[in-house]
Amino acid sequence: MTGGPAPSAAPAVRSEVCEVSCTARTVPVVPVVPPSDDADDADRAEPGSGATALSTVPAAGSRRGTTPVGALKFFHGPMDCGKSTLALQLDHNHTRQGRRGLLLTRLDRSRRPQISSRMGLSRPAVEVAEDTDLAQLVRRSWAAGTRVDYLIVDEVQFFTPAQIDQLAVLADETQVDVYTFGITTDFRGRLFPATARLVELADEVLPLQVEVLCWCGRPGRFNARVVDGEMVRTGDTVVVADTEAPGDQDRQDTVRYQVLCRTHHRTGDLGPGAAAALPIET
Ligand SMILES: [Zn+2]
Repeated sequence: MTGGPAPSAAPAVRSEVCEVSCTARTVPVVPVVPPSDDADDADRAEPGSGATALSTVPAAGSRRGTTPVGALKFFHGPMDCGKSTLALQLDHNHTRQGRRGLLLTRLDRSRRPQISSRMGLSRPAVEVAEDTDLAQLVRRSWAAGTRVDYLIVDEVQFFTPAQIDQLAVLADETQVDVYTFGITTDFRGRLFPATARLVELADEVLPLQVEVLCWCGRPGRFNARVVDGEMVRTGDTVVVADTEAPGDQDRQDTVRYQVLCRTHHRTGDLGPGAAAALPIET
């Protein structure tokens, strides 16, 4: 529960807090340590050593003397809701204030190692594999002399739950802020494993505010997988494909996704411009 400092004030605030935090001996072993982190502790005052009561016995609930942690935030929504656009905007806002970020993605729609938005923006990113250790990844950046103040993680629904745990460790033990962006549910309307883990671990879980509409005009929250013009409810969890406007029947023989409201995802109704609706399968 940090909420994180305001981006513009982050460097100064972090520097001060870090000096204080280095007095804490009670912190467990830190597996990943940024190069700028000073591991030397100041002398810790013992009772009776002449230190004041205030310096040795913090009031209950006081955060003084505790290690600051980075923020772990999860921005989520259906396809087409502007997640990648927000990811790139957030990166821009932090970069202009002098912070250094590392961009990660997996299976971007462009099929290239980058974060790309439907608005036409894109930035190079590290393509993460299923077995990539994210803590190691950040450690290697530090070893190469590249500072990492924050992570932008796009398409996070394709990461593994273990990698989500690694992101939490990075936030907790290295004060790196982690901003993740991903799709909430798969084509069956079930949470992705990584999404579920983020809901469990993230400091903040934030639905994207840009509404995507179902063909009926209601807010769309579910991603229907459409194969040969018909909605399917079985198959692999991850099949990368793009969305297209309902009614565009040029690609009937391909896999595509269509955002639907809960009602029409449940009934399998793709709208008047699509093929005949499917009955519900159980
Ligand atoms: Zn609808």
